[in-house]
Amino acid sequence: MASQQGRHFLQIPGPSPVPDRVLRAMDMPVIDHRSAEFAKLGREVLDGAKSVFKTSQPVVIYPSSGTGAWEAAIVNTLSPGDTVLMAETGHFATLWRQIAGRFGIEVDFIPGDWRRGADPAAIEAKLAEDRGYKIKAVMVVHNETSTGSTSRIAEIRKAIDKAGHPALFMVDTISSLASVDYRHDEWQVDVTVSGSQKGLMLPPGLSFNAISEKAMAASRANKMPRSYWDWQEMVKINANGFFPYTPATNLLYGLREAVRMLHEEGLDAVFARHERLAAATRSAVKAWGLEILCENPAEYSPVLTAVLMPPSHDADHYRKVALEKFNISLGSGLGKVAGKVFRIGHLGECNELTLLGALSGVEMGLAAAGVPHRSGGVQAAMAALESREEANTPKVAVA
Ligand SMILES: *Cc1c(COP(=O)(O)O)cnc(C)c1O
Repeated sequence: MASQQGRHFLQIPGPSPVPDRVLRAMDMPVIDHRSAEFAKLGREVLDGAKSVFKTSQPVVIYPSSGTGAWEAAIVNTLSPGDTVLMAETGHFATLWRQIAGRFGIEVDFIPGDWRRGADPAAIEAKLAEDRGYKIKAVMVVHNETSTGSTSRIAEIRKAIDKAGHPALFMVDTISSLASVDYRHDEWQVDVTVSGSQKGLMLPPGLSFNAISEKAMAASRANKMPRSYWDWQEMVKINANGFFPYTPATNLLYGLREAVRMLHEEGLDAVFARHERLAAATRSAVKAWGLEILCENPAEYSPVLTAVLMPPSHDADHYRKVALEKFNISLGSGLGKVAGKVFRIGHLGECNELTLLGALSGVEMGLAAAGVPHRSGGVQAAMAALESREEANTPKVAVA
C-alpha cells in the first residue's frame, strides 16, 4: 500500500474540505445561546446568509442536514393531497420527491434520463395545461449532485411566468449555493433550500430555507402539522438574533468566517473559479477518452463532474483502488448509476493545484485499477487552466 501521509484528498461533491480558517474560527468555547454575545453572532450569520442567497427576505438556519431543510420547505407550504411539479434530474430529485410523497403530496414527476437539467419548456407546458391551478409548487434541484448537471433556474422562472401560473417555486441549492451563481430575490424563488457542507465550506450540520413573502403567507395559511421546522416561531425569534431552540453555535462561528471568505474573494470570482476548475476537469476526462455523464454543455456542473466508466468496469472497485493507493476519496454513483459512474468534486476550498493533485490521483488510479484510458489528462487540465490564466490573474492597478 502506498503512503497515506499528508492530507487526505476529500474529492467528493460534499462534504467538501473545510478551510483551516473556518476550522480555527470554530475552535471556540461554547457560549450561552441566550446571551447578548450570542445575539450579535446570530444577527451576523443571519445577515451573512442573506448576502449569499442574494435576498433581503428571511433566511432560517436549522441545526440539521440538508434533508431536514427539504422537509421544512414541504411541511411549511404544502398539505396532504396537494399536487407539485418536479423534474427527474437524478438521485437527489428522486429523494426529494419521496419525501413529498411521504407527506401525502401528489408529485407530477417529469421523467428524465439523468444526463441533463430540468427542461424549462416541459415545465412551461405542464403549467400551461393546468388551467385549474392544481399545481401548488414547482420543485427543482439546481445542481443535481448525483449527475453533474445544473438546471437553468432563471429560465425556469421565465417558464413559470410565461405560463402565468401562480405555483410556488422551490429550489434545492444544497450543492450549488456559494459555488454557482444564484439569486433568490431576482429569480423570485419562493423557498431556497441549502446546506452547509458543500459550497459553503463548513462541516455538515446546518441547513437553510430562504423564504419569500409569498411562501411565508402560504405557510401561515397552511394547516399541515409541524413543530421543529415551523418558520413562524423561528423568524419571530431570529429578529433579535436568537433561536427558538439550541442552535449549532460553533458551526455558526464557522458560517460567519466562511461568509467573510466568500466576500473577500467576491462571489463572482468564486463562481468563475468553479467554472475554471470544472472546465479543466472536463478537459482531463476528454483526454482520458472517458465520457462525461452530463450530455448538455449548457448544463455542465461547475461543482462536480460525473464520469462514466467503460462498460464492464466497476466504478466502486476503481474508487477503492484510488483510495487505497493514493488516499483520495471520489464520489460514488448513486441510485440507478451506482457502480457505473464516479464523481470528481471540485467545489469550495479548491484551487488549481489541489485540483491538479486530485486529477493526478484519478489518472494514476485509472492505471492502477486497469481501467482502459489514455494518459495525458492532467496535462490537458494544465493546458486548460493556462488558457484561462488571464481570467484568473487579479487586475492590479499600477500607480
Ligand atoms: C447533499 C445533497 C442533499 C442532501 O443533503 P444532506 O445534507 O445529505 O441531507 C440534497 N440535495 C442535493 C442537491 C445535495 O447535493
